[in-house]
Amino acid sequence: AKSAGGNRFELADAEADARAITRHGLTTALPAALERGEFFIEYQPLVHLGDGTVHGAEALVRWCHPQHGVLGPDRFIPLAEHTGLIVPLGRWVLEESVRQAHFWQERHSDGGPLRINVNLSPTQLHHPLLVAETVDVLERSGLEPGALCLEVTESALIGADDDLLKPLRQLAEMGVDIALDDFGTGYSNLANLRRLPVSVLKLDRSFTQGMQQHPADPVDLKIVEGIVSLAHSLDLAVTVEGVETGAQAEQLRELGCDTAQGWYYARPGAPDRIHSLLLADAV
Ligand code: C2E
Ligand code: CA
Ligand code: CA
Ligand code: CA
Repeated sequence: AKSAGGNRFELADAEADARAITRHGLTTALPAALERGEFFIEYQPLVHLGDGTVHGAEALVRWCHPQHGVLGPDRFIPLAEHTGLIVPLGRWVLEESVRQAHFWQERHSDGGPLRINVNLSPTQLHHPLLVAETVDVLERSGLEPGALCLEVTESALIGADDDLLKPLRQLAEMGVDIALDDFGTGYSNLANLRRLPVSVLKLDRSFTQGMQQHPADPVDLKIVEGIVSLAHSLDLAVTVEGVETGAQAEQLRELGCDTAQGWYYARPGAPDRIHSLLLADAV
């Protein structure tokens, strides 16, 4: 089929090849990049919708690639996941962000416990040392387990059996919060939520996007309202992601969401940014 296609197809092939080469190049460069310290973490604040104070921060990893510049996680997390490098990379992210959170807490002991949210990929979830390593990281840092929230995507838990849920249950029993990330994008059975050791629902950005229009789509509002009331009846807190305007924030607050995250408050940034937001809250 390729040879019959002419130039258009040759071009498409060339682009596909270039992408494959980059993908291949990035994949093979990952282990050395970790050793050389080319990864860094940006933190995005999570804010109480009630009073706008900082509740915590989500750790979002980036790769400062010597040739390609700063790469977002969507470019390399799937590759790291595929090769298994996500395990040492994820361990590094956890260690680094927990250390950072403990540092913030030491500096702002008056501001109540600051929480740190860390993303866990499916491979990490299946890793036999997940619980032991998390305990170890917490103990070495001095951060109390209750300040850590591990974010697991809804899709990673679809059809999860007891073997998969057991480590999450153990972590939850220690006081670590488990958040169901990107909630609403998968097809999880709402009744299933009761079975999962989660304490936070993170409503996916697609819901907040649906509220961009003025007036917001009434069906979207009803859906969010329904999810929030179900979540609260199951004792789950609701975080919304992707809040970009004050109008969205106000609407989500009225719908009863607890915390929010998005460009309206702050883009992901250097740890200093969280530090100054905490200072501002303290006055
Ligand atoms: P996520 O967990 O859903 O993270 C939220 C994403 O939304 C982040 O993209 C964040 O920068 C972006 N975002 C935040 N506020 C807004 C907003 O108001 N508007 C818009 N348009 N976007 C907003 P980012 O940093 O590119 O991360 C993408 C994904 O990569 C994350 O999605 C997460 O699934 C994954 N990821 C990031 N860091 C890690 C990590 O350390 N480990 C693992 N396993 N995955 C990670
Ligand atoms: Ca997340
Ligand atoms: Ca998310
Ligand atoms: Ca998302």
